[in-house]
Amino acid sequence: MKKSFLLLLLLAALLATGVAQAWGFLGHRVINQVAVYSLPGSMQAFYYRHMAELVRLSTAPDERRNSTPGEAPRHYIDMDHYSEDDPFNKVPKAYDKAVEKFSADTLNKYGTVPWVVLALKDSLTEAFRRRDTTDIITFSAELGHYIGDAFVPLHTTINYDGQLTNQNGLHALWESQLVERNLKEYKLDSAPATYLKDPQAAIWTTVQQSYGFLGETFDRALKLEKQFPPAKRYTFSHRYGKTQRRFSDAYADAYEKEVGGQVAYRLKGAPTLLASFWLTAWQDAGKPDLNALMKPGKLSSRERDLLKEELAAQKKHTLSTDQTMLLALQKEKKVEATDEIKPATEAPVAPAEPAPTEPTPAPAPAAPAEAAPSKVKVKSKGPAGSQKEKTND
Ligand SMILES: [Zn+2]
Repeated sequence: MKKSFLLLLLLAALLATGVAQAWGFLGHRVINQVAVYSLPGSMQAFYYRHMAELVRLSTAPDERRNSTPGEAPRHYIDMDHYSEDDPFNKVPKAYDKAVEKFSADTLNKYGTVPWVVLALKDSLTEAFRRRDTTDIITFSAELGHYIGDAFVPLHTTINYDGQLTNQNGLHALWESQLVERNLKEYKLDSAPATYLKDPQAAIWTTVQQSYGFLGETFDRALKLEKQFPPAKRYTFSHRYGKTQRRFSDAYADAYEKEVGGQVAYRLKGAPTLLASFWLTAWQDAGKPDLNALMKPGKLSSRERDLLKEELAAQKKHTLSTDQTMLLALQKEKKVEATDEIKPATEAPVAPAEPAPTEPTPAPAPAAPAEAAPSKVKVKSKGPAGSQKEKTND
């Protein structure tokens, strides 16, 4: 009895960790699924056959963030650490050159997401050459995660949660709350994949565009703060045995009006770039026959019908309103159902603080991490520059 209670507690804690991650779980799952629809026919059957796995694994990098040393900085790059004035001209795009200029330690501290994407693209190309289905699916799914992260403006700044401008919680608001509340309004009409002649330029362009949206991300929130005094701006909820502060639904809806177009635009761009990375890796590997890797070797008539329906729904912009088609919504429902077990009433209620995201302390940070009221990110400016640890995504 007691054991199963502990297990439930652990499960609840794990779910709590997962739910507050980048793009939320919802966004990452949507990106990986929609990317399948952007593929050319020669690749689509294979990817469609493995779509559930691609969607499931889309969040794996976030799930191991707290347990795998070195994982956290792979999800972002703090461009403004290097310079607030045109950092894209100051950080070399090639990893080796960037290491030469700044040292590997510094890159690891301030994030490596563009280089992680490029390394995974190479691993995927190798997996295609080896015709290794498991690796093809794993690398394809994880590529989707990091590309998705690169599309989020707040993944490109040291002020990643609005914590330096007294806007804590902005991260979860932008990439989780807004998506969860408004996905049905987003069109998800991704463009077809194209071969990337210069993958390095492609991912850096994405990071730079994300960075370009930061001004609006912060300014529009600031504008609303005048209309929403703290009592109206925040809501407190008891979840997973903890009290959490987050932005109120009213504030989220007002913020959606301000930046929703931007969120929808970034969410729609990611699947196209992801499918283009898949296509590029496959082409660079000599276009192996993917149908030969399938058992049975082609889609069944039922699978073909379903795919056709989903592609038609995407064209009509009804993909996000149909729960049977969007795997992300199905999974999300399951998570919510498990959450309802909520046995954690005996757990100590933490004092109100902005969105705690993890049940246990993260692996030893490079930062001094003295008194950390929020577990989201610890930052302190010292002679060595800013030091921090991110546990949010
Ligand atoms: Zn992430």
